[in-house]
Amino acid sequence: MSGIAGDGGMADALRAATARISAASDTPRLDAELLMAHALGLSRNALLLRQRDLRVPPGFAALTDRRVAGEPVAYITGFRDFWTISLAVTPEVLIPRPDSETLIEAAVAHFTARAPRSILDLGTGSGALLLAALSEWPDAHGLGIDASPGALAVAQGNAERLGLAGRATFRPGDWAQGIDGRFDLILINPPYIARNVALAGDVLHEPDSALFAGVEGLDDYRRIVPDLRRLIAPDGMAAIEIGYDQKDAVSALLGDAGLTVRALQDLAGHDRCLVATMSKG
Ligand code: GLN
Repeated sequence: MSGIAGDGGMADALRAATARISAASDTPRLDAELLMAHALGLSRNALLLRQRDLRVPPGFAALTDRRVAGEPVAYITGFRDFWTISLAVTPEVLIPRPDSETLIEAAVAHFTARAPRSILDLGTGSGALLLAALSEWPDAHGLGIDASPGALAVAQGNAERLGLAGRATFRPGDWAQGIDGRFDLILINPPYIARNVALAGDVLHEPDSALFAGVEGLDDYRRIVPDLRRLIAPDGMAAIEIGYDQKDAVSALLGDAGLTVRALQDLAGHDRCLVATMSKG
């Protein structure tokens, strides 16, 4: 009896694809598995469990070629996992990153005794942060703002797919302009890359409007932060994503706006999230 009966060349195909993709990616094995699963119409778990019984589908080679040419896996498969949810993504939205889960962790740590009821997501993109939060707190309602109509359509589709559309509203907007009321939780992942930074990898395929923010990468923080004090509920919080070297600059903006600030690190140990709360007194 052969141990690889019915293997269909699956193990070899994954190995060969991993080797090719390694020129374009830091996670070539994962990428190969995600592309194979996509080509088969299966989850990655199902692929790994049933590997021996599956045949390599004809479309897999073309998907690998696209990845080798630099296209992000999430744009090829059309999906990306974030927190506990899976989101549809297109080149009109930033691909949700594990780093940004630091913002959700910050919110979960803040709301222990009570749950947030109102949530605002500025620059919602795919809706990742808002929808992750809404899935965490079943009684919460949320508003997602984005300047990009294409992004809003992606976010709305995600809300519907996840059964969260009844609690999520998406609206076009210019950061906090025209938004009234106060929110228990405000989530913000603005563009923060300095204009002249040389980039490589997935970001080359992502929307510039989600990435770049002027000479120092601080332009959007300067526009958003002055509005936060009127938007945060008294015991609420804002979780704001920052670049690894922006803690001091963005903390200073938040301090000038009358907010108390604390920094949290991502899994790589970089400063990634500032938690802003109302200063007492
Ligand atoms: N975290 C992203 C990157 O460095 C940038 C996202 C952003 O500017 N908000 O690739």
